[in-house]
Amino acid sequence: MGPAEHGASGEPAESAGSGESAHGRADAALFGADAVTTRTFDTPEFRGITFHEIRARSILNRVPGASRMPFEWTVNPYRGCTHACVYCFARKTHSYLDLDTGIGFDTQIVVKVNAPEVLRRQLASPRWHGDHVAMGTNVDCYQRAEGRYRLMPGILSALRDRANPFSILTKGTLILRDLDLLRQAADVTDVGVSVSVGFTDRELWRTVEPGTPAPERRLEVVRALTDHGLDCGVLMAPVIPFLGDEPAQLRATVRAIAAAGATSVTPLVLHLRPGAREWFMAWLGQHHPHLVRRYERLYADGAYAPTWYQRRITRQVHDLAREYGIGPTRAGMPRRITPPEPAEQPEPSGPTQLTLL
Ligand code: SF4
Repeated sequence: MGPAEHGASGEPAESAGSGESAHGRADAALFGADAVTTRTFDTPEFRGITFHEIRARSILNRVPGASRMPFEWTVNPYRGCTHACVYCFARKTHSYLDLDTGIGFDTQIVVKVNAPEVLRRQLASPRWHGDHVAMGTNVDCYQRAEGRYRLMPGILSALRDRANPFSILTKGTLILRDLDLLRQAADVTDVGVSVSVGFTDRELWRTVEPGTPAPERRLEVVRALTDHGLDCGVLMAPVIPFLGDEPAQLRATVRAIAAAGATSVTPLVLHLRPGAREWFMAWLGQHHPHLVRRYERLYADGAYAPTWYQRRITRQVHDLAREYGIGPTRAGMPRRITPPEPAEQPEPSGPTQLTLL
């Protein structure tokens, strides 16, 4: 989601902040003056992945153009995402670090190792007014790295202790590790959890979201959360034209979402911004070359599919949601994450881009 990050205090964000905007070849140059440690782990889970550990000076990021967003503040403990979704539109943000937006986005992960303590400090500031904080809007905060770095328990504890409302959007089953903390937070403030499931087609999943838990595993997360009293919506994203948009596919997906007990379903058609577009089109050419021309036509006007197409998908999904009994969000329910608005042109000082998870 958009441009420069700014600390909660209104001070310039120097967290990853200034580091994120720095240019250079070595890590220290890439990430600014903050301490940078580069690590690799020789375990099957993390083979081939490099972690750049940094100490952030600020962790609360203000979303530029927040008036068009359902939230104004985000917390992003990671940059880059091992879930490796081909279409991920946070890819572009890696270029601000002088890192590759293709395979580099999937394998060069920036970790703000002090995120919990910085957040606790910022939430305690008299200049912080307890606004809603959205997580998982840039990259997935429950990606595999979280299993090792365990930043989210400290982040959730800090929010719970201040009764600060927040929401999480994820594809990661790891969120269930923090179920108790989520419930404790929900006892004292508004907590919204959304899981992203754009389709249930396993073949499509294996190739286009290769590092993510399978769609049915994500739907088990929805079930587990709702079974434990936490309402959970599903962001049905992305709906992928010509590969995941057949009526039977939409029906199967909405039916599975309903069966999992989701409180809402919000469809979002694939969009292809610079950074993601090149990577996705290369993937398409490799896996579905016969679709390349159709995509070029469908996305001829830019990052978004035509309005008629988006409306058609939205109508179909809403009709199916009604049929399967997924009601609209009720007043008083935890806030769910709504689809991101088109990002403004990022400022040179560093990105916070909404991504569809
Ligand atoms: S779309 Fe979400 S889960 Fe997939 S790579 Fe991007 S941030 Fe990670």
